[in-house]
Amino acid sequence: MAIHASVLELIGRTPMVKARRLDTGPCELYLKLECANPGGSIKDRIGLAMIEAAERRGDLKPGATIVEGTAGNTGIGLALVAQQKGYRLILVVPDKMSREKIFNLKAMGAEVVLTRSDVGKGHPEYYQDLAARIAAETPGALFINQFGNPDNPAAHEFGTGPEIIEQMAEVGGFDAIVFGCGSSGTMTGLSRCFEKHAPHVELVLADPVGSILAQYINEGVLSDKSGTWLVEGIGEDFLPSISDFSRVKKAYAIPDAESFHTARELLAREGILGGSSTGTLVAAALRYCREQSRPKKVVVLVPDTGNKYLSKMYNDYWMLDNGFLQRPYHGDLRDLIM
Ligand code: PMP
Repeated sequence: MAIHASVLELIGRTPMVKARRLDTGPCELYLKLECANPGGSIKDRIGLAMIEAAERRGDLKPGATIVEGTAGNTGIGLALVAQQKGYRLILVVPDKMSREKIFNLKAMGAEVVLTRSDVGKGHPEYYQDLAARIAAETPGALFINQFGNPDNPAAHEFGTGPEIIEQMAEVGGFDAIVFGCGSSGTMTGLSRCFEKHAPHVELVLADPVGSILAQYINEGVLSDKSGTWLVEGIGEDFLPSISDFSRVKKAYAIPDAESFHTARELLAREGILGGSSTGTLVAAALRYCREQSRPKKVVVLVPDTGNKYLSKMYNDYWMLDNGFLQRPYHGDLRDLIM
């Protein structure tokens, strides 16, 4: 067993596990556990890759300031890497974000600037615009900008993708992969990697109902009206500038209820505690698997850990309050109907 020089060496090289108890129809389903990264999500990879690429270009001098607009997993990934490498990190966070997330980021040493949640792109207090402005006004600061930063997809093209090919070679290769899209870094990077090294692999997008992406892929229609959804980290109301959807031909739009129940089923059957987007991805993967007429090997990502969602989708009272579980009148929690 190796001893590592720093926690940053634990980013990537995540395990792959075959599903044993889920009903996968004629297919085999393999889960790539990105929840095993030290910050708990796939975004540790881009935190490290974007910072190290900026260092190599000379865009980040020792002790410099990094600025980003996010309260999500990218914030945690950046906080981990910035803290270990001695950079100051300013995160601009919309004020609707949960207090747990903000405390977590502060405990890791990030400076959190709260801003309004009720304003959109182009408004000076919109979190992305404010982050760009703080970076421009802070001497020597770098706006990381994951939505427009090519080092984000590169982390998956040269990291996540080759790992999957190497792991799946042990079982004779694979036929399809299911992923979600937030910044689109995962999709764009995997698509570029597989185009070169595994061109037969089918790319399948899992999207929450309300996002515009599934309709764009299945019908070629780019809607200017998005809905709302509770699953976190995936789904968009615009196409990020780094996105490349050209090789993605199939998408599933998954309702929140199906995502949450599938995440709970994954924990109950396979013992894997995934986040809410994991529920969406696994739900889409199961739909895909069950539709196939011949056996296929399918890979699905588990983008983050479910620890952050214990008081939400893993909490029966929260599920009940939000209409995702029902119980008979006068029943108690033992009578919950999934
Ligand atoms: N799942 C979760 C939980 C995430 O935080 C993210 C990143 N927003 C994704 C999936 C999607 O990854 P990407 O940004 O690479 O599209």
